[in-house]
Amino acid sequence: MPKLMIKNIGTLVSGDISNPLLTGDALIVEGGLIQAIGREKDLDVRGIEQVIDAGKMTLTPGLIDSHCHPVLGDFTPRQKMLDFIESSLHGGVTTAISAGEVHLPGRPKDVAGTKALAILAAKSFANARPSGVKVLGGSIILEPGLQEKDFEELAREGVKVVAEIGLGGVKSPKEAAPMVKWAKKCGMVVMMHTGGTSIPGSATVSADDVIATDPDIVSHINGGPTAVSFAEAEKLIRKTALTLEIAHCGNSKMIVDVMKIVKEMKAYPRIIIGNDAPSGTGVIPLGILRVINFLASLCGVKAEEAIAMATGNTAKVYRLNRGVIEVGREADLVIMDAPLGSVGKDALSAIEAGDIPGIAAVLIDGRMKIGVSRNTPPPNGKIAISQ
Ligand SMILES: [Zn+2]
Repeated sequence: MPKLMIKNIGTLVSGDISNPLLTGDALIVEGGLIQAIGREKDLDVRGIEQVIDAGKMTLTPGLIDSHCHPVLGDFTPRQKMLDFIESSLHGGVTTAISAGEVHLPGRPKDVAGTKALAILAAKSFANARPSGVKVLGGSIILEPGLQEKDFEELAREGVKVVAEIGLGGVKSPKEAAPMVKWAKKCGMVVMMHTGGTSIPGSATVSADDVIATDPDIVSHINGGPTAVSFAEAEKLIRKTALTLEIAHCGNSKMIVDVMKIVKEMKAYPRIIIGNDAPSGTGVIPLGILRVINFLASLCGVKAEEAIAMATGNTAKVYRLNRGVIEVGREADLVIMDAPLGSVGKDALSAIEAGDIPGIAAVLIDGRMKIGVSRNTPPPNGKIAISQ
């Protein structure tokens, strides 16, 4: 892996919600990790083998989709589509977190079967990254009969996440809460479906159900796609410290309502962004960018803060060593700019104006995965690569 420098960066977005913009115009990547950040003239450039000139564009961490429904590989039976993960890479997504492989045809609902699916998907995605995208797959779907020893086995075999509770046969807090305790004891992160029924087979989940179950993450606080009432959402924001996910394939009005209280409570660190696709709504390669735009153009969130909600905030709750531009972190990076014809002068002002930014390059572990995106509008700027 060549030692890389990215220079001539116009704006450096950190992904850290407490300090979302960094000074500096260059960074160095070695062994897939960020090794130095600062001003080019101050950096030690010995041994650099490749230079990407960012053409004064904006550098951000790679986006993390906190809510994806893959199955195995880059195929979704839900919308009968190939390469949807590759498409989201063209929307700046470098990590996708499975909220459960629920679309597997004939998904087994017994204890042995649900465990087998989680272990298989976790190992399959760990062995093969679709187009380079890091998929945290194999989230265990809770079914009646799972015991503490099952969670211990799942954790040993590489399962790190409990799929949104409510999708499987375990629906009541009485049944789910002990499983959540076992899962957390084994180091797993737990998400819970919230709101109305999204597709036949899932259940309506209230604020009290969530509080009694005690997950880490309230999946789609804005509905998926049917929201809880505003009073229920408000209760979850005010009375708990849970992480709150805004989903693209959710209720848009509810995003505006939820963000008013979140802003008042200064609870931006609790917000993460998920696509909730593939789903009935479809496959949405620009879903995470679209939520960033929605928050920054209609909810009074600064563009760099909205980006942190889709990067550093999510990395923190899932304990991933990425999502933040910081020395020692995995170098998953996006170079973006205002799109051609935008009223915005750079990526951040374009986002705040409601325009999808133009992606000029996406890197994973410091390697270029794509140049100009085939899905966003074209960026104003251009990168230049020299070896
Ligand atoms: Zn859901």
